[in-house]
Amino acid sequence: MPHMTNKSLVKRDLKVVWHPCSQMKDHEWLPMIPVRRGEGVWLYDMDGRRYLDAVSSWWVNLFGHANPRINQALRRQMESLEHVILAGFTHEPVVQLSERLVALTPEPLTRCFYTDNGSSAVEVALKMSYHYWRNSGQTQRTRFITLSGSYHGETLGTLGVGDVALYKDTYRPLLMEAITVPSPDCALREEGVSWEEHSRRMFAHMEQALAEHAHETAAVIVEPLVQCATGMRMYHPVYLKLLREACDRHGVHLIADEIAVGFGRTGTMFACEHAGICADFLCLSKGLTGGYLPLATVLTNDTVYDAFYDDYATLRAFLHSHSYTGNALACAAAMATLDIFQQDDVIARNRQLSAHMLRAVSHLADHPHVAEVRQTGMIVAMEMIRDRKTREPYPFEERRGLRVYQHALGREALLRPLGNVVYMMPPYVISEDQIDHLAKVAEEGIDLATQD
Ligand SMILES: *Cc1c(COP(=O)(O)O)cnc(C)c1O
Repeated sequence: MPHMTNKSLVKRDLKVVWHPCSQMKDHEWLPMIPVRRGEGVWLYDMDGRRYLDAVSSWWVNLFGHANPRINQALRRQMESLEHVILAGFTHEPVVQLSERLVALTPEPLTRCFYTDNGSSAVEVALKMSYHYWRNSGQTQRTRFITLSGSYHGETLGTLGVGDVALYKDTYRPLLMEAITVPSPDCALREEGVSWEEHSRRMFAHMEQALAEHAHETAAVIVEPLVQCATGMRMYHPVYLKLLREACDRHGVHLIADEIAVGFGRTGTMFACEHAGICADFLCLSKGLTGGYLPLATVLTNDTVYDAFYDDYATLRAFLHSHSYTGNALACAAAMATLDIFQQDDVIARNRQLSAHMLRAVSHLADHPHVAEVRQTGMIVAMEMIRDRKTREPYPFEERRGLRVYQHALGREALLRPLGNVVYMMPPYVISEDQIDHLAKVAEEGIDLATQD
């Protein structure tokens, strides 16, 4: 085989691969980056150039690429069992992982149901909630309440409860209709109003939706604290506290989609800990395997579980399945990831890192084309805006974020803005110097992207 270069591999790629979340025509002029290997926060391409993975490879990577400890765990698992059907059969990795997840999460959560990606975990939570009510004789509970700007995945069911127009609008005729409540998104608060006060005020909309629709609603679904995909929109934990209390009062389930924010991303192991609440369904994926393998789980409580537990002929069982449910290799990667959390005091180190992340970018809040700098834990975001006074945004067609992306690639960084929102959401093994470099590259990129 001749030595592969960026150019030769991309040429082959463009003949046979259809890439996710991409207009493939862009690649007539936008170079694709073929990655030969990864190590820690770095990705190395076929030509030997490197890129600091500031987006954790789409928010999945926690402890760096080719992590020796996770590699070792996978090698060991591979020697004994790669995968087995999980209906009628079980294996030690899935039992152990479930025991550990149940122990890590609040007391009411006692059961783990597995899928192989985040979207299908959300599908499971939606189906289980609806099915719970049906099994309890309440067949009229067919609806879900969601927040504006929310994202829960790309399948038809999850697009139905999501609200990112770019992904949703095309498919609208195919989707179930959720009840959409204005998000507590604190970027929209009035001047002088605190995050907490704004989040409290915005809860009135949720209260009203519940008062109106609780009788026909199975569950409220939220991304706790950060609505990532819509542009790192953030709100105060008090909203979750009020929501838990209102769901109880109205007898409606609460689904916490922590697929992006779980596993230390917000400064606690799970985002709901900031509010001291527990959802009826907790969806986890992304960081669950440290960014190694596709795996997701939905944790729920005994009340839900018991509503399905009956003689076969009653047809109350949850008959949902995926071929790779509870994959043993993925479970081994997940346990190695949890081991690292245990051994390295990750949450404490993340607190220092996130303080440093904010220090590194906070001065950008004064930039004439930055609307605000916001942060929750290991996520900082800077939103580019045409006019700070009138809050006039840059039109999406101008693709300002793409200019930041392109600039960053030339400066050894993978920053991949969401529209006009530039953000860092790095692996937890990043150093303070590397954060400083990313901040500098982000600033240069923003300067460049907003100069006309
Ligand atoms: C990524 C994401 C999903 C979907 O997970 P996939 O594995 O990409 O299907 C769902 N919810 C949230 C909050 C996410 O960030």
